[in-house]
Amino acid sequence: MALAVIGAQVCAQADTIAYGGPEGPDIYYELDSLPADATAEIGMAAHAIGLDWDVNDSLSFIPGYDMYCHWNTDAIFDREKTSRFDHDTLCLRLVQHECDQAIPCSGHVNSPFGWRKGRMHYGLDLELNTGDPVVCAFPGMVRISKYNRTFGNVVVVRHHNGLETLYAHLSKRSVEPGQMVDAGDELGKGGNTGRSYGSHLHFEVRFLDQPIDPTLLFDVTTGRLLHENFEIHKGTFASMAAAKASAGSRKYHVVRSGDTLSAIARKRGTSVNALCRMNGISQRSVLRIGQRLRYD
Ligand SMILES: [Zn+2]
Repeated sequence: MALAVIGAQVCAQADTIAYGGPEGPDIYYELDSLPADATAEIGMAAHAIGLDWDVNDSLSFIPGYDMYCHWNTDAIFDREKTSRFDHDTLCLRLVQHECDQAIPCSGHVNSPFGWRKGRMHYGLDLELNTGDPVVCAFPGMVRISKYNRTFGNVVVVRHHNGLETLYAHLSKRSVEPGQMVDAGDELGKGGNTGRSYGSHLHFEVRFLDQPIDPTLLFDVTTGRLLHENFEIHKGTFASMAAAKASAGSRKYHVVRSGDTLSAIARKRGTSVNALCRMNGISQRSVLRIGQRLRYD
């Protein structure tokens, strides 16, 4: 039997079982401490979708549970715990199969990860039109699906290797906490909800609540993963500290009518390649008037 239950939701495609009891969906039980009424509730939920289930059929399982030791379907991130990464290096396998990865939406980068207007931007802003599908980057289980003042309609997915990905400002959400999802599955439609000015996807990658620059994993212009394995070490997060430190010295060019990448590169004493790399765009990207391009 393959079954997962979070609260009253049953995911028939899951391999194992997790249960959020009557105390709330974020309360997690090991199988051998599952309360008796939970067993009955799971049995009924399974029966409702036409499955027979016996408590002995399953093991408690939530992706990355051994690393996080919690499954919270309300708090987007635990910002208090910022120093839980105490390994030297940890190698995360990102994909097992070719189909295990997908770029959440194909649009150029409006705003890169890093320091922005006096505050840290923990994700990547990808351009889209409201209503465009936003898909899951890797297989996993939906942890958060709710409305948040900052992120608008937001979905967070926990992946089996412990990474979490966040998809914000959606116009519509089409998944619920506890749902198993595959890479490429639609999580909702892109939009402009929450603290957002113009339709875009705010996409974050986190490990143990700490943000990672998504362009370290994905080539945004091709939509492909850069590596099958991703090494995490303290320096992965130090890049954020460095970004903060160098923030003061960053310089931006505001695109004006008639500007081209080569003209901007010439004017700012840099190369087209460097501009593309710094801004996560390709040489064929269409520039928009008013767009800010980092050149130093
Ligand atoms: Zn953003």
